[in-house]
Amino acid sequence: MALSTCVLPSFSPQAAVLRRTSTVANAAAASRIGGFLSSKPYAPPPWASGLSHAPSHTFTLGHFPTPIHRWDLPELPRDTEVWIKRDDLAGMQLSGNKARKLEFLVADAAARGADCVVTAGGIQSNHCRATAVAAKYAGLDSYLILCTSKPLVDRDPGLVGNLLVERLLGAHINLVSQREFLKFGSVALTELLEKRLLEEGRRPYVIPAGGSNALGNWGYIEAVREIEEQIQLSGGDVQFDDIVVACGSGGTVAGLALGSQLSSLKAKVHAFSVCYGPKYFYDCVQGLIDELQSGLNSHDIVSIEDAKGLGYARSTAEELRFVKDVAAATGIVLDPVYTGKAAYGMVKDMSDNPGSWEGRRVLFVHTGGLLGLYDKVDQLSSLAGGWRRMDLEEPVLHANLN
Ligand SMILES: *Cc1c(COP(=O)(O)O)cnc(C)c1O
Repeated sequence: MALSTCVLPSFSPQAAVLRRTSTVANAAAASRIGGFLSSKPYAPPPWASGLSHAPSHTFTLGHFPTPIHRWDLPELPRDTEVWIKRDDLAGMQLSGNKARKLEFLVADAAARGADCVVTAGGIQSNHCRATAVAAKYAGLDSYLILCTSKPLVDRDPGLVGNLLVERLLGAHINLVSQREFLKFGSVALTELLEKRLLEEGRRPYVIPAGGSNALGNWGYIEAVREIEEQIQLSGGDVQFDDIVVACGSGGTVAGLALGSQLSSLKAKVHAFSVCYGPKYFYDCVQGLIDELQSGLNSHDIVSIEDAKGLGYARSTAEELRFVKDVAAATGIVLDPVYTGKAAYGMVKDMSDNPGSWEGRRVLFVHTGGLLGLYDKVDQLSSLAGGWRRMDLEEPVLHANLN
C-alpha cells in the first residue's frame, strides 16, 4: 500500500520522510517548528505488522526517545546491573507513561472530530490529569470522573497534586464515591457522561481508565521499537535480560511484553501490580493482547508479582523510606503509587532470590507519577532532610556592609 502511494505522480520526497516513523524520524519531525502537537501518519514496526488495531496516526505529545542510563541502586546482588528508562521525562507536564498512550488516543479523537474527551480514575489519577493536558493541547475539553472516599465525595476536592493541574486547566471534575465506582464500573460511568454530553450537542470521545485499550497499547509497542533503536545506536553493546515495570491497568505491561516477545529485544518482562493481584492482571493482559490478535498467552510473555502492599495509593512507612533512600542515593525520585512500589518489589525480590537476578542486566521503566508525591507530604515529612536558619554572624559579611 505504501509502495503504491509512492509511485503516484503526487509523490513528494517530503511526504516519504514523514512516512518514516522510527523514533529517530519522529524526534526529528517533532523538533521542526510546527512538528510538535500535530497529527502524523503512523506505521507499526515490521515485527508488529501482524497485530490488529494498528493506529493510522499519532499526535506528537511527548519527548522521545527518553534516555536510558545506569541506575546504581544500593545493595544489588552480585553482578546484577540495573538500568533505567526515563519515561518520567516523557514530557507533557510530568505525564510519564500516559504520554505514549495518549499520542494514539488523541490522534484518534481528533480524527473523529471530537470536541471533548471523557475518562475516569482515582482522585489522584495521573491518567486523568495527563488526559486533561493532552486534550487541551489538542484543543479539546475534558470531563473527568474521579473516585474518592465516601466522606469526601460531596466536598471540594482541594488542589493537591494532580487536582491542581486539572483545575487550572479547567477540566470538568465529576466526583463519585469508591462504592459507586466499584458498583457501576468505570465503563458504565463514562458511558453515562458520554450520553449526557451527546444530549447537550457535544462530540465526546471516551478514553478508558488508564488509557488501556487496543489503541492505547500501541504506545508501549512503539516504546519497544524505541528501545531497540537505542540499543542499535549504541552499537548493540548493552542488551537487556529483564524489563521491570509497574502495573496499574495493564496497558503498559501488555505493550512491553508483546513488543519484547515479537521484536529482537526478547527480554523477560516482570510486572509489579499496585492494585489487584497477579491473577487479575494475567487475565487483563490476556484480554488486551487478544484484542490485538497476537495469538499469545499472557503467562508465556510476562511474570506478574503482587506489590500492592496496603492497597492502591496507600503507602507503608517502609515503602516511603525506600523512595527517600533511592532519591538520596541516586537522585531519581520515584512516585509512591506506582514506581515506588514496583522498585521496592523488585529490590525485595532481588534480596530474597539473589540467584535468579545474578549476572543479569535489568531495565527498569520509570513511568512517572511525580505529582502523586504531593499527596503524601504528611507521611513523608518525618523522612525528609532537615533545614536550618543561615548563620549570618560573620565579620567579613558585616565589614562589606560598611
Ligand atoms: C498509570 C501509571 C502506571 C500504570 O500503567 P498501566 O498501563 O495503567 O498499567 C505506572 N506508573 C505510573 C506513574 C502511572 O501513572
